[in-house]
Amino acid sequence: MKITRTTSSRIGEANLKNPTFGTQFSDHMLICKYRKGAWEQPEIKPFGPISVTPALHTLHYGQALFEGQKAYYMKDGRIGIFRPDMNAKRLNHSARRMFMPEFPEEWFLEGLKELVNLDRQWIPQNEGHALYLRPFMFGSSEFVAARPSEEYTMCIITSPVGPYYAGEVKVKVEETYTRSAAGGVGSTKCAGNYGGAFFATDQARKEGYTQVIWTDHKNHELVEESGTMNVAFVIDDTLITPPLSDRILAGITRDSILTLVRDTGILKVEERPIKVQEVVEAAREGRLQETFGMGTAAVVSQICTIGFRGEDFEIPVPSDGYAMKIKQELGAIRSGIKEDPYNWMAIID
Ligand SMILES: *Cc1c(COP(=O)(O)O)cnc(C)c1O
Repeated sequence: MKITRTTSSRIGEANLKNPTFGTQFSDHMLICKYRKGAWEQPEIKPFGPISVTPALHTLHYGQALFEGQKAYYMKDGRIGIFRPDMNAKRLNHSARRMFMPEFPEEWFLEGLKELVNLDRQWIPQNEGHALYLRPFMFGSSEFVAARPSEEYTMCIITSPVGPYYAGEVKVKVEETYTRSAAGGVGSTKCAGNYGGAFFATDQARKEGYTQVIWTDHKNHELVEESGTMNVAFVIDDTLITPPLSDRILAGITRDSILTLVRDTGILKVEERPIKVQEVVEAAREGRLQETFGMGTAAVVSQICTIGFRGEDFEIPVPSDGYAMKIKQELGAIRSGIKEDPYNWMAIID
């Protein structure tokens, strides 16, 4: 891997105490081009603009996808990335579905480690803070014709971040718009999934909510997921979350939480289809103990309100409940306070 270091670090101007999510970028980035059917040598170089032609394929046809994970300072001063091997695999899952070339897993992992190591000063040290890693890939041929791109660009940039959701999360059950459908691309992190969601989310915002809970494309009966988080409900001391399908993004946080909860026996776990009606009834009867989102950005996000057909259901958000216990357990592994029996942390030496 060719590495060109910056000669003018911007770290002096960085705000690491109170960073706004995804607005500051560290000194270096990785770039790798796919041409003539093969990936060329990846290169790490100073972060900066890339020039593109107006005929850039991805601007017209949207063969674009991304990943997201975090690097942390651990309690003993080591630096660890949380489960990057899972991101490498999911990137390639997205790539296959979007008819894009797979990126070699070893390069992905090596590139991330190299970048984090080079920009270690950019990792904020406060509780809940991290260096957010954003790998992405896009079709970079220069032609306007609705066929697949022939060239692709893989890129990784990194950004210091604080806790994602400040404050209470109020979600609205979405019954008009759909994020994904069977046979579609809902299980991929392709760019269009997010562009297609902004309108519905904005409608919900105008009604006073933070996010939507997507429901199934057919009858809007089943809970799917929320924004960039998988969702879990605690009803009668059981954690219930929808099963994975080609409509739901396979969250790494979701997988980690289910593993942890099953192994520690904090709660019973049911991965099964769950109807909005079941959630609403449980809320009415006071049996909906907690609801939370699971995702890299927020890790665990307690949901305090579920809006459904104009009615708001208030849900307990205990500071010593299941969601916070799970967040703590996960945090203890991430920070190295507890041992890491699953080898989730990729340590940077
Ligand atoms: C990224 C994402 C998630 C969460 O995945 P993590 O790997 O836990 O960050 C959930 N849903 C959607 C739609 C996402 O894009």
